[in-house]
Amino acid sequence: MANVFFLLGSNLGDKNRWLAGARQQISRHIGSIVTASSVYKTAAWGNESQDDFYNQVIEVKTTQKPREVLQMIQKIEIQAGRKRIEKWGARTLDIDILFWDDNVISSQDLQVPHPGIPHRRFTLIPLEEIAPDMVHPTLQKSIRQLLVDCKDGLMVERL
Ligand code: AMP
Repeated sequence: MANVFFLLGSNLGDKNRWLAGARQQISRHIGSIVTASSVYKTAAWGNESQDDFYNQVIEVKTTQKPREVLQMIQKIEIQAGRKRIEKWGARTLDIDILFWDDNVISSQDLQVPHPGIPHRRFTLIPLEEIAPDMVHPTLQKSIRQLLVDCKDGLMVERL
């Protein structure tokens, strides 16, 4: 059984509904949700002309393998995004694998821990809410410490 952290994000349409749908699909197809952070409203990172995101981190127990889970989250993203708002092109739902126990995976299609973690407050703040003392397996710092060190100044507001 692996303990996996996911970041959920949505910046289009009914954002809370996309996040709720993602949680439902993840618990149905990947594993049970052990902990969920609050939902945060966050400024779009890297492309500030986009609408704000809603972000949430969840912790899930699964018996599946990383690649199976990657395929499943891609399926869930496609189902959420393309069914209703196809012509907009923008994505209603983004799901990233942040941590997989303390495993390090470095392949072309999957990097775990997710390389964006130390640079993004929209990831670190919800992570700190549910796992402040968890230690990043390669950086060897707690989430709390990574947040102290993070230079990102974009808005992250708990809803
Ligand atoms: P994104 O635009 O964030 O949805 O990126 C999706 C792509 O990132 C996919 O092609 C994945 O194969 C790749 N990827 C690499 N590492 C990860 C990860 N930890 N979680 C999710 N997608 C990942």
